[in-house]
Amino acid sequence: MIYIYILILMYIYIYLCLKLSSKQFRCIMIFYVRSLKNNYIWILSKKENCIIVDPGESFNVLNFIKKKKLILNAILLTHYHQDHVFGVKDIILLYPNIPIYGPIETKKSGTNTYVFNNDIINIMNVNILVLHTPGHTKGHVSYFVKPYFFCGDTLFSGGCGYTKYENLLDMFNSLKLISQLQNNTAIFCSHEYTKSNIEFFCSILKKNKTLKKYLKFIENKKRTIPTILKKEKTINIFLCTYKREIKKNIFPKLNVSTFDLFRYLRIKKNNK
Ligand SMILES: [Zn+2]
Repeated sequence: MIYIYILILMYIYIYLCLKLSSKQFRCIMIFYVRSLKNNYIWILSKKENCIIVDPGESFNVLNFIKKKKLILNAILLTHYHQDHVFGVKDIILLYPNIPIYGPIETKKSGTNTYVFNNDIINIMNVNILVLHTPGHTKGHVSYFVKPYFFCGDTLFSGGCGYTKYENLLDMFNSLKLISQLQNNTAIFCSHEYTKSNIEFFCSILKKNKTLKKYLKFIENKKRTIPTILKKEKTINIFLCTYKREIKKNIFPKLNVSTFDLFRYLRIKKNNK
C-alpha cells in the first residue's frame, strides 16, 4: 500500500514540476522579419505583448507588429553594429517610453538600460538572462530565454561572427561558454550564413561525407535558423576545434593547442 502512495506522490511531484517549469514559456512565440541581405530580426511575443531583438531596420518590423496587433514592450540589442541597431531611432518615435536594453557599446543607438553579464531582466513576466559573449565586438551580449538563445553575431549555424585578431581569445571563450549550454538550446542568431560556413568546413575536411550530405541538404533552403546546439556541435567547425580529426588534418604533428587551431581557422575564414 505504501508503495502506491509513494507512486502517487511522485506523479503529483513530476506533474507540478513540469507545470511550473513550462508556465513561463508556454505562451512565448517567436517570429522573425528578414532584413537587409541576410539579417534576422527576432520578435518574441507573449499574448499581445512583444520584444524585438536587434532591429536593423524599422519599416518591416513595425508593419509586422501592427499586423499581428502586438504591443511592443522592449528592445534588446546584442551589439552596436548598424545592421542590428539602425531601426531603433524610428521605432522609438512610435514607442518613446519603452526600455531599450543593450551593452554600454550601444549607448549611441538609443539604449536606455545597460545590461551586464549574468543580469536577469524581466519583460512580459519572462526572465531573460544576459550573457557577455565578446569576440565579434568587445561588449557583445547574448540573451537567454531558456531554451531560446539570442546570440546576435557570436555563434552562427556552421560558424561564428567575424573576429578581429585581438579578440580571438574572447571569441574562443564565448563559444566555449555557449557550448556548455544544454544541447537542446535553440540558437537564434542574426544572420543566415549557413551555406558558406558549411562550404568552409567542407574545404577543411574534404572527405567528410556527413558534411557533404548536410551541404546538399541545405543547398536550396532559404532559412536554416533557428538551429539546435546539439547539431552545431557536429556541423560547426568552430565548435569542433577540440576534435583530433580536424587538428590532424591541418597540423599532422598535432603540436598545437585547441585555441591555436581555432585562431588558424578563424583567420583563414576572415580572409576568405
Ligand atoms: Zn555585427
